[in-house]
This record gives sequence, C-alpha cells and structure tokens, in this order.
Amino acid sequence: MISSLRRTALTLADLVFPPSCVACGQPGALFCDACAQAVAPIPQPCCPRCGQPQAGAALCASCVSRVDDPIAMARAVALFAEPLRPAIHALKYANQPQLAPLLGRYLVAALASPAWQNQIIDVVIPVPLHADRLASRGYNQSALLARHLCHALRLPLEPDWLVRHRDTRPQVGLTLEQRDVNVHDSFTAQLGMAGKRVLLIDDVYTTGATLRACAAAARDAGAAAIYGLTLARPLLQPHMHDPLTI
Ligand SMILES: [Zn+2]
Ligand SMILES: [Zn+2]
Repeated sequence: MISSLRRTALTLADLVFPPSCVACGQPGALFCDACAQAVAPIPQPCCPRCGQPQAGAALCASCVSRVDDPIAMARAVALFAEPLRPAIHALKYANQPQLAPLLGRYLVAALASPAWQNQIIDVVIPVPLHADRLASRGYNQSALLARHLCHALRLPLEPDWLVRHRDTRPQVGLTLEQRDVNVHDSFTAQLGMAGKRVLLIDDVYTTGATLRACAAAARDAGAAAIYGLTLARPLLQPHMHDPLTI
C-alpha cells in the first residue's frame, strides 16, 4: 500500500515537474535514450586481472608489480566519461537514487558478457560506505546498483557482509600508492562469506584501491574467490607517484 502510494506520488511529481536528463538536460527522462546509447564501453583488449585497457592481453604493469592481489578479476562496464560521468555524479552527490536502475542495467548486461561466463558467483556485495557518510547521503549508491543487478539476475545480495569501519579521507589528489595506504584496513568482513565466491560492486574504479581493500577483508574472512565489477573507470594508466585528480 505504502509503495503503491509512493509510486503514485512519484508519477504525479513527474507530471508536474517532468525530469530532465542529468547528462544532456533534455526534458523527458532522467537519463535519456540518446545518452544511454552513447555510453562508451571499455576498449579492448584489457589486462585480464584489473581490466585496464591496453595494447595486449598480458597482465598490465600495475598487476605485474602487485604480487599479492586479492582480486581474481575486476572489470568496469564503461568509460568514466560523458554522458556516464554526470549520471554517476548525480547518483552519488545530487540525491538522485532513481538513477540506480537506469545505470544498474549496464552491470546486468556486463555479467552476461563472455568475460564473465566462466565465473561462478555465490554472493554479491556492494562496497560499503562509512556509517557517517551513509547517514548524510541517505543511501549507498553501490548498494542500489547491486540491488538492481541481483534482482535482475536472481543473485543473492548481502549488503551487510562488508563494513567500512574507518571513514577515510577522499582519494582525490592522492597517488596510486597513497590510495592503497589510505583505504588499507578500512573494511571488515562477516565470516558468512567463508568459502564463497564473491562479486564486489562499486560505481567507479579509479586505481582499484577501494576494491582491493574490500577484497583483502573478504579474503581474510575466508572468501574462496573475489571478483569486482564497477560501472565505470577512467581511461588512465596511473603512474605510482602522480596525484590523481578524480
Ligand atoms: Zn541525455
Ligand atoms: Zn592489470
């Protein structure tokens, strides 16, 4: 009853204040069809472990230098570029949780792609926010994306199996190395994931530091295999000592 009332209220609000596209401003839809079709997939080939686009199919330099990577395979669906970038920004910072199903459908399509066909996933876990940030934002955008994915593909969702117990400083302006240090030991994992093959979901993969910190916690809790899927990643090959502006 409450949800149908809420649906009705949303419909009336849409009639009175029709949404406009968060990327191009065109009235009619929150993320219009033209923008949805303009989302740019990650160029191939890419590093088989972290998904970084590159010339060949060997491990990239970062993955070669990282001897103990807890993530077996990470992939992003699309480039962190127009029109996806403003849509993710609106989902995270402009109180537009309604964008989650519109963007989550890209995750659904990605999991059906050949890259994922041989991976068995027992449970899907979104990258958690710290409780303080969750309280101020009102929702965890990665959890909303994961919920859409799990609903569409009938996968088990466990949004509470990872907890962010330390609110780290923002990663913007930190180098690749500093980012790993910044988020290290920020997460704890529930023991329920022992023996499970886990898919972590996040919105943006920049250096992978956050996903790796989550994966390390999951591995400590006994997860059998850990994968990562994000909506977007920028087209960059980060150097260890360059401060990153995103
Ligand atoms: Zn648009
Ligand atoms: Zn790599």
